[in-house]
Amino acid sequence: MSKLRFKVVEEAFDRKAVKVDIPKERPDEYYGKYVFNRKAMYKYLPKATFDGLVYAIDHKKPLSRVLADSVADGMRRWAIDNGARHYTHWFHPLTDGTAEKHDAFIEHDGKGGVLEEFSGKLLVQQEPDASSFPNGGIRNTFEARGYSAWDISSPAFILDKTLCIPTIFISYTGESLDYKTPLLRSLNAVDKAGTAVAKFFDSKVKHVISYLGWEQEYFLVDEALYSARPDLVMTGRTLMGHESAKNQQLEDHYFGAIPSRVEAFMLDLEIECHKLGIPAKTRHNEVAPNQFELAPVFEETNLANDHNLLLMSLMAEVARRHNFRVLLHEKPFAGINGSGKHNNWSLGTDTGVLLFAPGKTADENLQFITFVVNVMAAVYKHNGLLKASISSATNAHRLGANEAPPAIISIFTGKQLARVLENLENSNAAELESLSGKMGKSVGIYQIPEIMIDNTDRNRTSPFAFTGNRFEFRAVGSSANCASAMLALNAAVADQLNDFAAKVNNRVSRGEALKQAILEEVKSLIVYSKPIHFDGNGYSEEWKQEAAGRGLDCETSVPKIFDSYLDTKSVEMFERTGVLNRVELEARNEVKWEMYTKKVQIEARVLGDLAINHVIPVATRYQSILVDNLVKIKSLFDDAKAQKIINQDLQTIETISEHMSVIKEDIERLVNARKRANSIDNERDKAIAYHDEVIPLMEVIRYHIDKLELMVDNEMWPLPKYRELLFIR
Ligand code: ADP
Ligand code: MG
Repeated sequence: MSKLRFKVVEEAFDRKAVKVDIPKERPDEYYGKYVFNRKAMYKYLPKATFDGLVYAIDHKKPLSRVLADSVADGMRRWAIDNGARHYTHWFHPLTDGTAEKHDAFIEHDGKGGVLEEFSGKLLVQQEPDASSFPNGGIRNTFEARGYSAWDISSPAFILDKTLCIPTIFISYTGESLDYKTPLLRSLNAVDKAGTAVAKFFDSKVKHVISYLGWEQEYFLVDEALYSARPDLVMTGRTLMGHESAKNQQLEDHYFGAIPSRVEAFMLDLEIECHKLGIPAKTRHNEVAPNQFELAPVFEETNLANDHNLLLMSLMAEVARRHNFRVLLHEKPFAGINGSGKHNNWSLGTDTGVLLFAPGKTADENLQFITFVVNVMAAVYKHNGLLKASISSATNAHRLGANEAPPAIISIFTGKQLARVLENLENSNAAELESLSGKMGKSVGIYQIPEIMIDNTDRNRTSPFAFTGNRFEFRAVGSSANCASAMLALNAAVADQLNDFAAKVNNRVSRGEALKQAILEEVKSLIVYSKPIHFDGNGYSEEWKQEAAGRGLDCETSVPKIFDSYLDTKSVEMFERTGVLNRVELEARNEVKWEMYTKKVQIEARVLGDLAINHVIPVATRYQSILVDNLVKIKSLFDDAKAQKIINQDLQTIETISEHMSVIKEDIERLVNARKRANSIDNERDKAIAYHDEVIPLMEVIRYHIDKLELMVDNEMWPLPKYRELLFIR
């Protein structure tokens, strides 16, 4: 066998579970140990500082300079007491992942020694030289300055002995260069808009909060096997590899017993999560072999998103302790399920009401229906944009395949909610006059508490499903920053709620009763948003046709899907809600197209290398063994017998030659296609060229490599095969 493959398979095979260092304290004692939460603040800050900071956080107010100095002082002492020696502003640039630049807590003291130093100024704002972060042309390199500014709504934490301060990242001229800034703006927008509508039902409501509970799917691969696959190392996915005989067809992995090495990893990861205040709760095997999931208890969206980003870096680190590599790519292996990150999303009031949960009274249920239909209308109006918000070069491999949400956004409501909406739509004006118990019953709202909408009525094929008290945006990719989807969704819903409130108020000012006005507007939204409602099989061919007929966005080319960000209706919506302006949207699209191109470009290069330097030489060697064998056979058998054997072997030799020649030709065409694409200046056109010209060639090349894998002597094949990557653990 290829020496390297033989060695890594053996290494992976012999690996035992790593012992986990379980803390002596109880979970509630170490939970949040590395977070500068209210408990830590109370201990380390003077009373007045504590009160001032809590007030600023709760009322979304800026910190005064004096207060900031005092907070920084306490934060520094807390961090050093807990082992930190450095601090960093932690932000989410427009690349994947997070960015940080560490500084030590020291300054010269002027007497040849050092002082511990961390001022309010350093806490609140910094100017990282960030010229090499993607900015879509907003900043030229001569104006390299960007500001990072503390987001006080998200607590500071210690990771790897470094105090991390969550920050937003904006340009010198104020445009956002990150995900957090527009996410926070969208949360403010949905708070304001949602509060105005919630006040129709309860005047005591002061805030509407957006919640997010993500479910993170991932694969684990033994690190020795991983290291022997240049495609996994460089691109996060396998660019070649024939399906193994067994994959997920027996459905024996989902919810199956967790392998012991994996269980040790999960336990270790959860303990780390809990120390960082990430409420990791659920873990299980996923559908594909070596695929798993982690889900936390849901939290306020900004915090939940910080926690997801933090989780993704923790996973990579903890996996290495267990001699695993974690794959967050949406489609690491062809032919089996890819990984998503379901975004369970809901809105709730500061008075404790979950707005997508049916209530006990007719009034509560009118509120429930009001929020649900506004979401449906927003998702319908911006279905193209929401698809753009989850699209990427990597997620493209997952969407539209028979395992994941289709590349068309629709909403699944389930039978019970569908019936309620239908009843409401068909009720006549007389019935809607008042919302007494009787009347509630007649429109079907009243029945909801008796029926209780539950989770049994499920549809796994829907990209956006109502699941009892929340919506589940399932199309989000496993490697994505959830903020991309969450800021588009919250902004679209905020804009829709603003429109709804204005229309209701208009009716009321013309003398209509409030409840009557709400019902009339709800009815019209039910009618308006019908095309987005689809409870059938989202994987079917018929749905694609029907969706096109309904006018839903059916574009499948990712670079073109990004165009939705610049549609007039998207730009207007983002500007009205104050979430992103046109300059920011244009700059972001430049970044998206550029990232798309770069990812495909890297894959194409790696595939070229694998084909020419790994596969072709081995196939040639095997072929020459077969040829040598022919000569020997000839000398051994009489003519008739030899000819029969030779004919069979010649067939094999010929097939191998054919595959090799297609690979060689197409690699050359691939190189030329890249050259042509690279000469294009416009980022959008370049990304389209990569999508249209480069990707199809990569697929053809892969097809022929995978055929060779089946023919060439197993002992000679250089790279770990799917059956080894997916079943050794
Ligand atoms: P399933 O896989 O059945 O959809 P999980 O238990 O894996 O469910 O994940 C459900 C996720 O949804 C969890 O993160 C949970 O905290 C979250 N969730 C539950 N209720 C809400 C809600 N009202 N708003 C947002 N997220 C929620
Ligand atoms: Mg789910």
